Amino acid sequence: MIKNDLPSISNSVWSATSKEPPVCSVFAGQHEADVAIIGGGFTGLTAALHLAKSGSNVVVLEAETPGWGASGRNGGQINPGLKDDPDAVEAFFGPVFGKRAVETSASAADLVANLIRENDIECGLSRPGWIQPIHNVSAKAGVEERVRQWVKRGAPLHMLSRAETADLLGTDAYIGSMIDERGGQLHPLNYAIGLASAAIRHGASIHAQSRVLNVEKDGRRHVLHTSEGSLHARRVLICTNGYTDQVSARLKRTIVPIRSIQIATDPLSEGLRREILPKGHSASDSRRLLLYFRFDEDGRFLMGGRGDYSEKGLARQFAALKSITRQIYPQLSEAEFRYHWGGFVAMTADHYPHLASHGEGVMSAVGYNGRGVAMATALGKVLADWASGTKERDLGFPVSKLKPIPFHFLRKPAVAATIAWSHLRDRWS
Ligand SMILES: Cc1cc2nc3c(=O)[nH]c(=O)nc-3n(C[C@H](O)[C@H](O)[C@H](O)COP(=O)(O)OP(=O)(O)OC[C@H]3O[C@@H](n4cnc5c(N)ncnc54)[C@H](O)[C@@H]3O)c2cc1C
Repeated sequence: MIKNDLPSISNSVWSATSKEPPVCSVFAGQHEADVAIIGGGFTGLTAALHLAKSGSNVVVLEAETPGWGASGRNGGQINPGLKDDPDAVEAFFGPVFGKRAVETSASAADLVANLIRENDIECGLSRPGWIQPIHNVSAKAGVEERVRQWVKRGAPLHMLSRAETADLLGTDAYIGSMIDERGGQLHPLNYAIGLASAAIRHGASIHAQSRVLNVEKDGRRHVLHTSEGSLHARRVLICTNGYTDQVSARLKRTIVPIRSIQIATDPLSEGLRREILPKGHSASDSRRLLLYFRFDEDGRFLMGGRGDYSEKGLARQFAALKSITRQIYPQLSEAEFRYHWGGFVAMTADHYPHLASHGEGVMSAVGYNGRGVAMATALGKVLADWASGTKERDLGFPVSKLKPIPFHFLRKPAVAATIAWSHLRDRWS
């Protein structure tokens, strides 16, 4: 079970099957660091690992435990690229940084795989490719265009026919698909635990149950206060994504946390495993409110989708997720879904992750829009490069200004309306 969260979203298959996490003490007393990191998910832990390897004195302060946030709860799908296609990314960020953002996102899956290999992280990595199944005719042109744009840049993507899709997915619910051979999957909590352990081995300090309450300026340094101590550092990295709290009220207003939920069965029979996703692919489909699914290493089937804010609404969302799973896979009509859990992804108004400067010595990376396994790993490295002295103009991702979303206080009704509208469009268009 995930500790210290709503019971209705805490029965996670990853918590039930994870390795022993490293022992992380509560931060206490007065300390100094070269770099202080707020948040111990993929972003913060990857940054800590790179910095510790290069000899920096780095301290991570995590409110709960490493991987407690989205990083330890997600679908574990390693999907290269950003939400938008490469042409749109280049148009949005301009010729220099657009190209660099595309390259960073394109190589992010390899970065994950290399980190896992170099640091002996046991997290069930496999890379048979990521499939994007197409749910209806009007979504097809967009997927074809995605393939065209990536192929133009030399990436291994291609379209699959309806029959090929049915063979690889074990369902005829989709009219076709694309496959991106760079993609893969892993056990996300074990990846987070492995990153934390590797960072500690290289000299990083990681503290659990150490929420940063506020950050203040002290000359050219910053002081991070927790309930039991203070940390002085020249550089601060804010890596709190969908769990951003009042530690940076301005950053909090740049993102909208949206809950994503998942369900998982017990290990399925050999027969069902030969029928459903027989080659071990992971899939996330072309719906606006996308469905994402895969097996874990032990043959449990996982399905994910969009959740709800309120606890009351969650029961309905979990029931809807089970129902659509059984529509797509009637083979699972008798299967019991033992696990059900969820967590917050951070959406941004422009659908791009934001690497943002907060003034001298403070940088944040948030807003992966549900695609953070690869991208949070990539931006954690970019943050580490910046904290090690790389100039902003030479980073692998553009630094933007903090852009609070207007009328952010209306985000809950706005999200509810957007979800309802997207649901209708998924059904009718
Ligand atoms: C259910 C679900 C499914 C998903 N599936 C996928 C997927 O299949 N593929 C994919 O690419 N992406 C997926 N994502 C998105 C991905 O998990 C995230 O983008 C990624 O994990 C973000 O990592 P992070 O380190 O930036 O943030 P997080 O992992 O959310 O970590 C932020 C941390 O900051 C800590 N924190 C917050 N405030 C403070 C404070 N004041 N002091 C100290 N610590 C603080 C929190 O406790 C938390 O641990 C999914 C997300 C969810 C929730």
